[in-house]
Amino acid sequence: MSTQGLLIVLSGPSGAGKGTVCKALLKECPQIQYSISATTREPRTGEKEGKSYFFTEKKQFESKIESNQFLEWAKVYDNYYGTPKDFVIKNLKKGKDVILEIDVNGAKQVLKNFPDGTFIFLLPPSLEELSNRINKRGTDSQEVIKKRLASAEGEISEMKNYNYAVLNDQVENAVEKIKAIIIAEKCKIDKI
Ligand code: 5GP
Repeated sequence: MSTQGLLIVLSGPSGAGKGTVCKALLKECPQIQYSISATTREPRTGEKEGKSYFFTEKKQFESKIESNQFLEWAKVYDNYYGTPKDFVIKNLKKGKDVILEIDVNGAKQVLKNFPDGTFIFLLPPSLEELSNRINKRGTDSQEVIKKRLASAEGEISEMKNYNYAVLNDQVENAVEKIKAIIIAEKCKIDKI
């Protein structure tokens, strides 16, 4: 009998719509615990400390890396991002499901330590659509947008390391698929 919750990793290229899909999923499934990441990047308009991210100074972030406080961390477009370890472990032990919304490099690290996790790769309908989504966000500089698009192609090649691929053609469709994945995972013989 499994006493641990599911560790769900939602990953994919920047601009695939991970944030939007994750938000919609949590609205429908409020029992899932969202892991709030730490980052050294500047807050965007509307983002709140401790809700969107824990906005952290670079030095403080590096000292947390040193003291092994992250489950995983990665440098994404010149900023650090990391998953605080305690929150995830504590909730999984309590039998709660936890979702991480992270980039492909972070997901790779999690896979090493949690091979039984549920790894979901969110795909944008096309690179053209991805470009539209990043541009529509309107908060990033042209230079950052270019970098994000260039790395998206490389990131898509990482899909082979995941358990599931979900096409984000429409948010509601993607959410339905993720909910079905979660149900299927919970019915697996080794997770009963
Ligand atoms: P953004 O700056 O747009 O919020 O996020 C940029 C990228 O960093 C996205 O792909 C997002 O999923 C990823 N990211 C957010 N939090 C984490 C984290 O804790 N760890 C890792 N590895 N990536 C993260």
